[in-house]
Amino acid sequence: MKTIIVTGGAGFIGSALIRYLITSTDTKVINIDKLTYAGNLSSLDSIASHPNYSFIQADICDNKAMKQAFEIHKPDFIMHLAAESHVDRSIDGPSEFIQTNIVGTYNLLEVAREYWQNLDDELKQAFRFHHISTDEVYGDLGDSGKMFTEETPYDPSSPYSASKASSDHLVRAWQRTYGLPVVITNCSNNYGPYHFPEKLIPLVIINALAGNPLPIYGDGSQIRDWLYVEDHARALYKVVSEGETGETYNIGGFNEKTNLEVVTTICTILDELITNKPETVIKSEDSSFSSLITYVKDRPGHDLRYAIDASKISKELNWQPQETFESGIRKTVQWYLANEKWYQAILNGSYQGQRLGLMD
Ligand code: NAD
Repeated sequence: MKTIIVTGGAGFIGSALIRYLITSTDTKVINIDKLTYAGNLSSLDSIASHPNYSFIQADICDNKAMKQAFEIHKPDFIMHLAAESHVDRSIDGPSEFIQTNIVGTYNLLEVAREYWQNLDDELKQAFRFHHISTDEVYGDLGDSGKMFTEETPYDPSSPYSASKASSDHLVRAWQRTYGLPVVITNCSNNYGPYHFPEKLIPLVIINALAGNPLPIYGDGSQIRDWLYVEDHARALYKVVSEGETGETYNIGGFNEKTNLEVVTTICTILDELITNKPETVIKSEDSSFSSLITYVKDRPGHDLRYAIDASKISKELNWQPQETFESGIRKTVQWYLANEKWYQAILNGSYQGQRLGLMD
């Protein structure tokens, strides 16, 4: 049985990954998470008491705590997801992004390198440092009609994407310089259950149910490639367990949608599922949730289009997404309707809805 350290396992993608690892693979998981505003242990309730799961509350920048975790648990793989992940927050205050995403990754690389160097040959060869990154490192495709491949040069636009690009560079350098066996994945926008309420899709669902405006940046024409989070979790395990050392794999959903299309699709599903509509919707001209859409000033440096060419992982590792956008978004809306308790606890707790008016 492989032992895997997962960093950021109380976050959106990390928790989906851990639920998948515990329920669908023969692995032991150690979740290391600082529990920032974005970390939520209740997303792991379904597997928390499983004997193959354990949790350490720690900061990835804490060298002593990371060394101790490696020494005690002797991982075969580390899957590194812990990060500050919200673009708007990175524009308001980049400091935490530099600290966690760059310095934290550097710290983990050094701790992993020291641990890996002392392994015996067989374990040394099988060890993997898997850095989970984003397609935002490639910058903006604009109206070029192209897609991001693993060869696309880096050209990040926001403090968030620049910090992720920096950490990708560090990870590659630790392989070239020290031989640390690494793999990197760059993924498109994820969506699905347990997504933090300030991100576009849950934000639209929650605001719509309350009858509040649905603000859209600019004219809503920004295009993102959407991937259902459980498809991402399967891809990540494929890469860490079957991927080639030193390789990068792009992961995408083959689902390009404008932000406006995403929001109107959610509104159409809500129109169908919700019988008890809020007053503001009932009073609108067409009694549709889409009447709540309002356009707000665009964010600075807002990339127009991201699109992932995921043919490498598809050909080499035989991975394909199982959900289309239509099936995944319906499942997601239904999950939020059935799990008001989960997001209300966040809205009533440490998170004070600072960014609930804003999108993306
Ligand atoms: P998230 O914000 O939901 O979760 C991040 C987790 O990391 C939280 O649980 C938080 O408590 C933890 N964390 C933050 N700083 C930490 C620190 N210093 N030490 C330990 N833990 C810390 O993020 P997510 O959406 O699940 O994204 C996970 C990873 O995937 C990130 O690296 C992100 O860049 C990448 N990614 C995300 C998307 C997406 O659409 N969400 C797409 C591609 C790549």
